Amino acid sequence: MPYLPVAQPPRHELVASAERRWQVLTDARPDLRPAVELQRGLLTLVIDLAATIDGGRLPRLSLPPKYLAAKLTRGVPILAGEPIPLPAQLLKSSLVRFCDELAAGGAGEVARHIGVAIDTGRIDAGSLLTASLSRDENTIRIGAAHLDLAPDLTWLVAELTVGPLAHALQRTLFTTAPGTPLADALAAWNRGYCPACGSWGALAEVVGGHRLLRCAFCAATWERTIYACVYCDEEGEAFVTAAPDQERTDRRIEVCSSCGSYLKTIDVDEISPFPLIAIADMETMDLDVAAMEHHYGRPPLKAFKTGPRAKG
Ligand SMILES: [Zn+2]
Ligand SMILES: [Zn+2]
Repeated sequence: MPYLPVAQPPRHELVASAERRWQVLTDARPDLRPAVELQRGLLTLVIDLAATIDGGRLPRLSLPPKYLAAKLTRGVPILAGEPIPLPAQLLKSSLVRFCDELAAGGAGEVARHIGVAIDTGRIDAGSLLTASLSRDENTIRIGAAHLDLAPDLTWLVAELTVGPLAHALQRTLFTTAPGTPLADALAAWNRGYCPACGSWGALAEVVGGHRLLRCAFCAATWERTIYACVYCDEEGEAFVTAAPDQERTDRRIEVCSSCGSYLKTIDVDEISPFPLIAIADMETMDLDVAAMEHHYGRPPLKAFKTGPRAKG
């Protein structure tokens, strides 16, 4: 079943589920309270923005399903290299709001400077968001550094702002009837990166024995037919799955000494809907620490050669 469509719960269920998870997390780890508070502020804005985007019109795109199927078959995510018109004004004000939230949540002046640069047009909001949607980390980092702004935070506010749109596009563009070329191409998707946006799986949620890779950006969900390193496909002895805490074998890391990378793998009852994968990521921060202590990391985003678009 490689690509798996996921039903999006209504807003009130989403919020209730997020609150439950934050409560459990802060009960277990009171030291994470400030981080949870900041995440609550940010995800509340994301959920509001997603409601606005879902209730409005998506950008008009000429991406015929057959064209998308051909792209996937070549291993290219569907959004890579596509000029996608963005609702610039709505998103620009959201960018500034995310900066304010981060500033209030502890990032202070560093975040405020980014908000001012966006507000005054020193950063072009449209270009920033387009670069984020096409997962172009280098352009954003270099552009931010050039303006003396924090590259990580600039990347983050753009990602938070454009994420709801990426999620809506992912769901809309991948909705197809069984038996079509697009459905076949999605069923055959067997890569470690997202078929919609090209991000690496942020983590794997294992439900009923299915190891589902999750994209933290657009929330796409897919399962590989091989048990191998998601980054380099190593299947041999260099690829090992281990539980850092022997009492909690439901929480594991897959480490690969061929490419030096790791992936968090957790057993869950149900997968996290958009945008709660960010909560799953925070719940498993100890696994990141364990992996990094052993000198494993996460590779940079993959770049895609999309080539000239075929007509027709
Ligand atoms: Zn994605
Ligand atoms: Zn590897």
